[in-house]
Amino acid sequence: EHAAATPHRAGMAALIGPPNVGKSTLLNAIIGEKLAIVTPKPQTTRTQITGIHTVPGLQIVFFDTPGIHQRRGRLNKALLQAAWQSLHEADVAVACLDAAKAQKAGSVAAQVANIKGPLLASGLPLLVVLNKVDQVKDKGLLLPLLQEAAELFPEAEIIPVSALRKDNLDRLVARIAAALPESEPLFPDDQISTAQVRFLAAEIVREKLFLQLRQEVPYGVAVDIEQWEEDPETGFTRISAVIYLTREAHKGMVIGKQGQTLKQIGVLAREEIQELLEAKVHLELFVKVKEDWTENPAMLRELGYQL
Ligand code: GDP
Ligand code: MG
Repeated sequence: EHAAATPHRAGMAALIGPPNVGKSTLLNAIIGEKLAIVTPKPQTTRTQITGIHTVPGLQIVFFDTPGIHQRRGRLNKALLQAAWQSLHEADVAVACLDAAKAQKAGSVAAQVANIKGPLLASGLPLLVVLNKVDQVKDKGLLLPLLQEAAELFPEAEIIPVSALRKDNLDRLVARIAAALPESEPLFPDDQISTAQVRFLAAEIVREKLFLQLRQEVPYGVAVDIEQWEEDPETGFTRISAVIYLTREAHKGMVIGKQGQTLKQIGVLAREEIQELLEAKVHLELFVKVKEDWTENPAMLRELGYQL
């Protein structure tokens, strides 16, 4: 006799919400690793970071979006764009709200003002997470907030959680899973992130190299991030990057007299990567020769180029 086979489900879940409601904390709690940068300061997540939750029968690919809020400026415009872009790619939207803040304000309305329209317009299955319930001491005060959220989003399920205490996250994961299509896994089961920040960091190194060498840049320079380690204790991120060249003869040019050119590339790149990550960075650069990498699809893909 056969056990009824449960279909494998896999898909994309977009975490959407104002800054500081705990989206990154929630993601890290579900994935079980420190993925997104979490600080008490809003706007920590500058790049869209994905986390991948894989268990038997299920794979959820999360987008942790930058907080959505109305502000001027090119960066903020780009952030908003990225946030809504992620919604187009998602199978389910998870709107995150801060229960403690809502309780103080007496309403969730202010927190959903900027997201309600686009969320409803997206037509996606919607889950509304009321996070930080650990900070609402009198649980009776949660009821009117849950009711208000249910009225604002009639089709959505409202799920109170505490990302910090990992309360009710099983239920949230189960509801996300139920909203995903039947599908084979989208990523290998040991992959927890697509780590787009790595690609950006590699691009920064490449840019500094171009600036240092000016018109002498050899054809076929690539940068690969080989090691990336965040130390939650010190807040330092240790990064090792390899600069690939196609000719042995180019090495001297990139390294420079007594290593001065490479050193300068490292100094400038480190400063900018620190800004990107909003964390202290220790950057090590290596130079390697790999003759025909520019013709090697596997290597191109590994370096982040879309073929
Ligand atoms: P994001 O901007 O939405 O990604 O928010 P973060 O995940 O960076 O969290 C912002 C702040 O809220 C941090 O200080 C977190 O420790 C805190 N926080 C997140 N989730 C919870 C929670 O469930 N309970 C409490 N008390 N604090 C939380
Ligand atoms: Mg965040």
